[in-house]
Amino acid sequence: MKWKSRFASRTKQMRRSTIRELLKLTARPDMISFAGGLPAPELFPLEQMRRATECVLTQRGHAALQYGETEGVAELRDWLAARFSTKGIAVERANVLITTGAQQALDLIGRIFLDEGDAVIVENPTYLALLSAWRPWGVRFLPVISDASGMCVNELDPLFAQRPKLVYSVPNFQNPQGTTLGLEGRLRLLKLLRENDAVVVEDDPYGELRYEGEFLPHLFELDRGEGRVLHVGTFSKTIAPGLRLGWVIAPEEVIEKLVLAKQGADLHTSTFCQHVLYEMVREGLLEKRLPLLREAYQERRDAMLSALEEWFPRDASWTRPEGGMFLMVNLPANVDTAELLKLALQHKVAFVPGEEFHAAEGGRNTLRLNFSNSPPAVIEQGIQRLKTAVDELT
Ligand code: PMP
Repeated sequence: MKWKSRFASRTKQMRRSTIRELLKLTARPDMISFAGGLPAPELFPLEQMRRATECVLTQRGHAALQYGETEGVAELRDWLAARFSTKGIAVERANVLITTGAQQALDLIGRIFLDEGDAVIVENPTYLALLSAWRPWGVRFLPVISDASGMCVNELDPLFAQRPKLVYSVPNFQNPQGTTLGLEGRLRLLKLLRENDAVVVEDDPYGELRYEGEFLPHLFELDRGEGRVLHVGTFSKTIAPGLRLGWVIAPEEVIEKLVLAKQGADLHTSTFCQHVLYEMVREGLLEKRLPLLREAYQERRDAMLSALEEWFPRDASWTRPEGGMFLMVNLPANVDTAELLKLALQHKVAFVPGEEFHAAEGGRNTLRLNFSNSPPAVIEQGIQRLKTAVDELT
């Protein structure tokens, strides 16, 4: 069978990444991987999960194992609605859709909004899997620089002139750079959205993982119910990614269309997982867990920053995240980090080359490092190995 001619033209837009292939090697047990975006597994709430599962099976087992509503389990939607309601805005159950991770939320948003040729503003660099999810729709990505202070909002004017269908932003501890958009930038972005009658997708998987500095209001909150912000969240980084539970908070009219798209995708997110998760958060699991996660990740970030300080060349620089799970290193302009990765893997350490995260040119000399998935001593050792690879290449 000749398959090539049978695939849809959008399938051609789905890129296989050579880097992803290389990173399969990170599964080797002697490898130190700063590549994945993995939370610390030793902090997963196994005991609470066991108790919650027992409780759900005993009290609501039949409902929890049955098909459910596409919108999600009502109790969990209500819990999220209450959590996102502020003095100014009442979020209702009808504004909440439970999704199979934040990734599905992003995919569904792409499905209901994007036509071929539509312009979409993204930070450069930005979250890789957002580019993969939306590229097949034939969109034109309009990259805006994202630096140590997050999205460069002052550069947006000429891009708005191209009438983008959506703006995509990760305002807190961005993946890949770990950077955050300040309050002034957030207010300016909202002003621009109003002036240009535009909409932003606020993707916030890491916002709760702030271990330094002041919490900043979500774009969703600053929008004060005007409906210019589609807020996407997840329990992947605060509880466990294996549950595959995320959400969208949006105006009811948008949720209705997302529900139609979700029906075609997977009918609904696992009812069982939603019930178990609800049981855990209802009991206050997040309030207990978040301080532990923040403390552990801060320690790991500090270990990585001091190892970089000690081992990395003077002409290298890196971001200093106040939360989240990643930082980004800039090496001198002549270093190609895709080449560096090959050497690094020989020295049994892995990272993701920065170019992968760029919708436009740039980032060839940058690398993303994850610090949440390794204890401090391993981080120290991994950065030393990486330094050896850098020395060999330069
Ligand atoms: N958005 C961003 C910015 C992410 O970093 C991730 C996870 N790596 C996701 C969305 C997807 O998360 P989930 O596990 O909830 O699908």
